This record gives sequence, structure tokens and C-alpha cells, in this order.
Amino acid sequence: MTPQRRQGFATRMSHAGRAGTHVHGFVNPAVHRGSTVLFPDCAARREGAKHRFEQYMTYGTQGGPTHYALEDVVAEIEGGSRALILGTGLAAVTVPLQAWLKSGDHCLMPDSVYGPARNFCDGLLRGWGVETTYYDPCVDEAGMAALIRPNTKVVYTESPGSHSFEIQDIPAIARAAHARGAKVMMDNTWGIHHFRPFEKGVDVSIQALTKYVGGHSDILLGSVTVNSEEDWRVLRAAASQLGQYASPDDCWLALRGVRTMAVRLQRQAASGLEVARWLSARPEVLRVMHPALPKHPQHALWQRDFSGTCSLFGVVFQPRYTLDDLCRFIDGLALFGIGASWGGYESLCIATTGNITRTAGTGEFGGPMCRIHVGLEEPADLIADLEQGLARLGG
Ligand SMILES: *Cc1c(COP(=O)(O)O)cnc(C)c1O
Repeated sequence: MTPQRRQGFATRMSHAGRAGTHVHGFVNPAVHRGSTVLFPDCAARREGAKHRFEQYMTYGTQGGPTHYALEDVVAEIEGGSRALILGTGLAAVTVPLQAWLKSGDHCLMPDSVYGPARNFCDGLLRGWGVETTYYDPCVDEAGMAALIRPNTKVVYTESPGSHSFEIQDIPAIARAAHARGAKVMMDNTWGIHHFRPFEKGVDVSIQALTKYVGGHSDILLGSVTVNSEEDWRVLRAAASQLGQYASPDDCWLALRGVRTMAVRLQRQAASGLEVARWLSARPEVLRVMHPALPKHPQHALWQRDFSGTCSLFGVVFQPRYTLDDLCRFIDGLALFGIGASWGGYESLCIATTGNITRTAGTGEFGGPMCRIHVGLEEPADLIADLEQGLARLGG
């Protein structure tokens, strides 16, 4: 028998999670808003309660048809068996940590982890008696093995790292973690479909759908994807106990966003690389932190494990510039908004120097730095804007 051919990403994003026969042939699922689900009789309601972890609606907090359509699409994007939609990307980080960690456990976090995830570990998790150690994201298999203690239950990863864009050797980290019985979690927001987490040893994959899936800077949503029935039950039970839920209106917008994501991503990735290459040739710039550029220190790992890139990267300026100089450059840009988040259709630029906490000695970058998100504008216009900005920097 010939193995079934996997269709291209754009094809799958066009066809996954369609409404099917449920809505009499309309292409898209409806928005189902609801708390109460009615049953014909008591027996049917009792029967329904047995299916808590299935896609079987008994109460609004379990989600409804709009959520399930998006869950199917996200499972398709990530290559996992089942996905859960949560109200924010940050909830998608904190819910699995709560699901798999308890008092007395130890958690390993990369020093380059998304800042609010660090806040959660140093805040509530610490108060609950879970200890976190921050590790160098560029750790190898032996280094990771040495960090794992008997009570290490979660090895968390994020590749590339927030603001500094280190690519992690996920298969090596996963081998070390699994040999010692720890779960491997990954924030795969940057990789989207270019990194296939479950083929690389990840057990629990997290995405902020707020970014490219939403694509229009108008919603907050997160997803957690797993690849086994057992992991699904642990995850679903934690989300239920915590009362986590996402708005069906936002799920509907995410479903709309996902239909165009393949083309947006392709265009933004190409524009982002053009802008990154242009910046890396400028004398004001020390280095551009973009994993798809050959000069990136982990470019070979990126080539091995990723099938593409998105349009988010960092820029380190020459050390002769101050943070004030950098802010003068950013403040005068006309096409780049100054704001957090990314993955929308519009370009953004924020200063990251002074905004980053590092405690494992990985915080030396060589100069003031910013993070750039490239949107759907014409790259020539973005480059012209950056050029006039760099002129303000002087020598
Ligand atoms: C934005 C982001 C999140 C959190 O997403 P929100 O929806 O803003 O809460 C998590 N991880 C990474 C890497 C992000 O960039």
C-alpha cells in the first residue's frame, strides 16, 4: 500500500475544520455562543456527563462547535492528535504547567523564555512549591541530562528564544528529558507549521494564536496541542478545573484568519528576510538575530529542524549607540508601530534592551537592540523608512 501523501500546508489550511454537513452546505461554521446545553431527558444528560473529554457538549465551558472546528485546524497545523483552545497565548503556557507540575516538583525553563512565562514560574508556581531553574537555551544533550533532577517533571522549551532568537536542539533536549521521565513542552509560536513538534520529541506544544493565526491584531487566543489520549485527559482536566474558556467569537475570527495564513506567512517571511538582509549589511548594525540568515549562530540547527521562517527577528546595534539613540531611531519610523505582540498584517518595532530578564548568564548581546515584526507592506517602503531612521542615528 502506498503511504498517504500529505497535502501542502495551504491546501490543508483551506480545508481543515470546515463546517461540513452541520450547516446545510455553508462553507464556514457558525459562531455558537452558549452556556446552557439542553437535553431531552435526565438519562440523556447523565449519558452526556460520561463524555466530558470527548467533543460532546454538556455545558458551555466544555466549548462548542466553533471551538472544535478551530481545535481541529490547530491539531492539523501542529501535527498532533488533539488541540485545546484557551483565551490567551499566556493561558496556553500556564495551563499545561499547572497540569503537569505539583508541589515539590522541579521545572526547567530556557533563560530566553517569553517574559510572562518567567513571571508565572517566579510568581504563582514558586508560591505553590514548584522550583524553576533557568538554563542556557543552547544546552546540548549531556548538559540537559546534568540539569535534570529526580523531581524534574517538565522541561520547557521555546525555539527560537524570545527577543534573542537562539534555536534550541529540541530532539537532543527531548532525548535527555524522556530518558529521565520528564515531559517536554514547547512554545511553538514562532515555528507555527515550520516546526513539527511531535516529530522532534515534544509532548505538549503551545501556540499564541494571537499572532499569525489571528493575523489582524484584533484577538487574543492560545492553543495547547498534545499527541496522546493520556496527555489529552491530563490537559483537558486541568483546563476544566481551572474554568478556562475562550470566546467563540474570537475562535471564529481565528478560523477566518487561518484560511489566509499560508499566503500571509509566505509573503511576510520573504519580506522579513529582505529587510533583515538589508539591515545586516548596514554599518550601524552589529548583527541581525534571524535564524534563517547563514550568520546566525544556530543557522544549521534551524536548517535541520525548521521548514521555513516567519517575519519576527531581532537587531543588535553597534555598542557605540545608547538606548536613547535607539529610541530616536524607533520613534521616527513612520511604518513601524511601537507595540507588543506580532503576527498581524502591520509592521512593528520595539526596543528590547532593558526589557529582558536573564538569570542564567545568557544576557550579553553586544549592543542596544530592538525586535522587528514585518507585516504585509511593500518591503521597499519598509526599507526606505528604516533608512531614514538610521540616518537619524548618525556615525
Ligand atoms: C505573544 C506570545 C505569547 C502569549 O500570547 P498572548 O495571546 O499575547 O497571551 C506566548 N508566547 C510567545 C512566544 C508569544 O510571543
